[in-house]
Amino acid sequence: MENVEEYIGECEKKLDERFKQIDKVSYCNYVKVAEAFSYYKVAAMHFNGSTGYGYGDEGRDTLGKIYAMAFGAEAGIVSPHLLSGTHTLTVALFGLLRPGDTLLCISGMPYDTIRGVIFGEGNGSLKDFGVNFKYVDLNGDGSFDYEKIKAELNSGVKVVYIQRSRGYELRDALSCGQIEEACKFVRSLGFEGCIFVDNCYGEFVETREPCAAGADIIAGSLIKNPGGGLAQTGGYICGKEKYIDLIGKRLTAPSIGLEVGSFALGYQYYYQGFFMAPHTVAQALKCSLLIGTALDGLGYKNYPSADKTPYDITRAIQFDDENKMLDFIREVQYASPVDSFATCEPWDMPGYDDKIIMAAGTFVSGASIELSADGPVKPPYIAYFQGGLTYEHGRYALSKILRRM
Ligand SMILES: *Cc1c(COP(=O)(O)O)cnc(C)c1O
Repeated sequence: MENVEEYIGECEKKLDERFKQIDKVSYCNYVKVAEAFSYYKVAAMHFNGSTGYGYGDEGRDTLGKIYAMAFGAEAGIVSPHLLSGTHTLTVALFGLLRPGDTLLCISGMPYDTIRGVIFGEGNGSLKDFGVNFKYVDLNGDGSFDYEKIKAELNSGVKVVYIQRSRGYELRDALSCGQIEEACKFVRSLGFEGCIFVDNCYGEFVETREPCAAGADIIAGSLIKNPGGGLAQTGGYICGKEKYIDLIGKRLTAPSIGLEVGSFALGYQYYYQGFFMAPHTVAQALKCSLLIGTALDGLGYKNYPSADKTPYDITRAIQFDDENKMLDFIREVQYASPVDSFATCEPWDMPGYDDKIIMAAGTFVSGASIELSADGPVKPPYIAYFQGGLTYEHGRYALSKILRRM
């Protein structure tokens, strides 16, 4: 493409109002974070590391409290010992479910790496421990299928599970408004168990989190939105105190709970990352909208559609052509600050069935709050794009992508 700068300028003009809206949401979320920092009197001592058992580790405990407050939850666990989003969700689910219980997912089949956790055979899955699993697909328009949910919700269901973001599915993320409606619906049917939301990629996209919309537990990864690009690993789980207590006993040991857990490196990046996160998420949303609008103008179908409000930071772009998909992902890598010289190749990855191609030239290995793109290499050749610590980075990547096209 010629006139790349001109074309990007036109796209930016179209997005002017949307960007202003994103800034408003970001400010609203920042206020919540700032007030939580102030309420809990965060001080330099909270950044200190601890060793051994980590008894009385104020940095660890306070971090959980500020997450909970900003997310509208009663209590929270934030830990570098939660190794990824998948591990975080696993700890939470094992903390909540017991043999004979049923897990009912009402947003369709859960994310790829969670499937093996729920119904893997002989790998220590929930199923191996006698936990049943059922799921209800979303309707074609992305709404909840209330008829089927009603039919599947019986007294054995102990956890109702909702995945906010799309994962590797071609659907839009669920809004907190939709989640609120679903929570009210299952409660109206007399459900008394735990409503659980996989909140990956959703944090700080709206002015509230699912906890403030009726969910009992939310969980996610710190190398996505809430780590603000600074957290180097970890996960968080927030929600009702009684559930956090149960999950804490699974994170450590049933006799110990959340009194232990040390981290010698200290927590500065976790606090600073959370402080940055509302802004970082806004940057990622702007990158996503800019790339979406630019590719839409060139005839590439992408989701959420350019005129819709995004409810997570991810964007699915349909290429219908293997080489075009690979070119796009490789160009994202070439535009990265780290490993810009590497050419991405599709590869087998643990937890995924198809070969995956992944561009992640990131400071924190695999962090997808940083500008990154990936996807299973199979028709209709959809690349999933997310992140961007700075708008400049997204704009730069787009200019390279457009020049290649
Ligand atoms: C990323 C993601 C996960 C799992 O996260 P990992 O950190 O890759 O293990 C789970 N659910 C959704 C919707 C995700 O986007």
